[in-house]
Parts: sequence; structure tokens; C-alpha cells
Amino acid sequence: MKKHNFSAGPCILPQEVLLKASEAVMDLNGSGLSLIEISHRSKDFVAVMEKARSLALELLGLEDQGYQALFLQGGASLEFLMVAYNLMESKAGYLNTGTWSDKAIKEAKLFGEVVEVGSSKDENFNYIPKGYTIPEGLDYLHLTSNNTIFGTQLKKFPKTEAPLVCDMSSDIFSRQLDFSQFDLIYAGAQKNMGPAGTTLVVVKEAILGKVSRKIPSMLDYQVHIAKDSMFNTPSVFAVYVSMLTLEWLKNLGGISAIEEINEKKAQLLYSEIDLNPVFEGYANKEDRSHMNATFNLADEGLKETFDHMLKEAGINGLNGHRSVGGYRASMYNALSLESVGVLVDVMSEMERKG
Ligand code: PLP
Repeated sequence: MKKHNFSAGPCILPQEVLLKASEAVMDLNGSGLSLIEISHRSKDFVAVMEKARSLALELLGLEDQGYQALFLQGGASLEFLMVAYNLMESKAGYLNTGTWSDKAIKEAKLFGEVVEVGSSKDENFNYIPKGYTIPEGLDYLHLTSNNTIFGTQLKKFPKTEAPLVCDMSSDIFSRQLDFSQFDLIYAGAQKNMGPAGTTLVVVKEAILGKVSRKIPSMLDYQVHIAKDSMFNTPSVFAVYVSMLTLEWLKNLGGISAIEEINEKKAQLLYSEIDLNPVFEGYANKEDRSHMNATFNLADEGLKETFDHMLKEAGINGLNGHRSVGGYRASMYNALSLESVGVLVDVMSEMERKG
């Protein structure tokens, strides 16, 4: 039986993407060769990389505006470091909204002064700080648009003179935003885009080349841009599957179409959390993430029963992160409304059982 996959990442991908990817592993485009046994310099793979890069910019509405899309390696975690390496001359601002922002801050401190413009650490990151002041003279301001672990999401983005950098690992391509307000966006592929192994970086070229330090080639965005994201052997399988997923999204109608579905899924689950006395939401209502919904049982004694019912219903990946506990339902782009319906049915059944 196919499971209802609520895993936080790596996570569910569209069924048709998995099918096409498995075909390409056996035989790419009828070439008689596998996707993973050909040269990354071959015509077939160069076309894949080019398509993945252009689809990313097209879906974000950032074509012909001075942005470059790169598919790099090292995960979003390497971007914590690369962003500072490439952009920080002396001082950068960070909004601390959770574990991942915290880790980004730790890396940035190796390169200069970090101003924490706001933090929700005092409440174990169950809300998004607001009304904070952004000092002048920052080399950039870093945000995390969706806090995968705590289930909060930025609904509004601050206006600032400094270049805006955003870790969108867990909500990229899920909702319409004016992406041109950002100067650098990065996202590990393994949520809304593909398998683990590649990281999308979308960067405005004009912000690069301004720091005085020397940057090692592999960590230098300009080097990767000059080599069309092929400075070294890219993660060919992850880039191919990302390309397929971006194609799937485009055929579906792009970000606006998936946003509509994502809103329905979130509304369905959050209304159940709010109406059902067996459960309690974790994140502040106004800051709730449409990708990761965090909630707890009002009575922990019901855990065994609930876990058993989830298993019986074929629901996978609902355990909360160890730093929050409880449950986390990740509703990434490829998760169907029907799967959320199955979860909500189990939750209502819990209420009926008392
Ligand atoms: N940033 C966010 C928002 C994440 O959710 C994650 C992983 O879940 C990361 C960064 C780290 O990504 P990676 O494991 O690709 O380094």
C-alpha cells in the first residue's frame, strides 16, 4: 500500500517524477545509457542542467532580471557559510527564527559581526518576531522563510536597504511572493524540489564580487556562475529529478496553482487542530506554516492509541522533531489534499473515541 507521506524531508515527490526518474536511471532519452553513467559534459546532461536552471528562474518570475540559478552541493548548510564568505565584509543582520537560522548565525560569526535583529528563542521559536529594528550599514540581512522544525513561516518580509538573503529550503515554490525583493535565495532540494544532494541558489549577480577576502573556488558563487553551474561534477541525479519536479510544477500551472492547493491542505488540517480538543497547535496562529504543521496531544497518555491509528491508516513521518516533540505534518507540494483528509479523519476518530 502506498503510504501517506508527511515526512519533513527528504519527503514526498510527485509519483510521475519518480517514474520518469527511474526510467532515466535505466535509459536516458532512449540513448541506451543511464543518466548516472554518462558524462556530465555530454549534450544530454548539459541540456538537463540548463533546463533546471531556467525553469527555476521562470517559476520564480526572475528571468532577465540579473539573477543566476545554480545547482550546488553541500546542502543548505554549506550556504550558511558561503553566503557569509561571499557577502560579508564586516557586519550582517540575522533574524533568528529557529534551529536553522541559529546554525546560519554560527557560521556567519566566523566572518564578521552578526547583529541578531530579532529572535523568538525565548518561546522555543513558536512565533515570528515582529516590530524589530534593522540597523543601517549591514552587508546583508538573512531570513529563514519557513521554519521546518517549529512550523512557523514568515508572511511578511522586511524592507531594507541591505541585500536580502533568504533560506527557503522548506517552502520554495510553494507560495507566490515577489521574489525580486530577495538578492539571494537558497534551498536544499529535498523538500519541494527533488532528492537530497543538490542546493538551488538564486543570486543577483550585482551583489557579488564586493568583499575583499579571497574566496576558494568551490565556495565562490562567481566561479560557479562563470562555469554555468558545472565547475565540478554536479550531482547529476539530484539535478535531473529537480528538473522533472520543476517541469511537473510548471505543467500544473506554476506556483499560483500549487499555492491554492497548499492553502486548502493547511486550512483543512489547522481547522481540525483548532476544533478538536484532543490536539493543541504549537505555533502562534498568525505565524503558522503552510508546509509544516506542528501540534501536540492535549493528553500525552493517548500517544500509543494515536500512533497505532496513524500506522493503520498508512500515515508516515508524523513524528515531531526532537526539539519540539509532539507531531509535525509536513505538507509539501507533492502531498495530496486527499492524504491530509486521511490524517484529519484519523484525528476526528480520536475525538470520537474520547
Ligand atoms: N534550512 C532549513 C529551513 C531546513 O529545513 C534545513 C533542513 O531541513 C536546512 C536548512 C539544512 O539543509 P541541509 O540538510 O540541506 O544542509
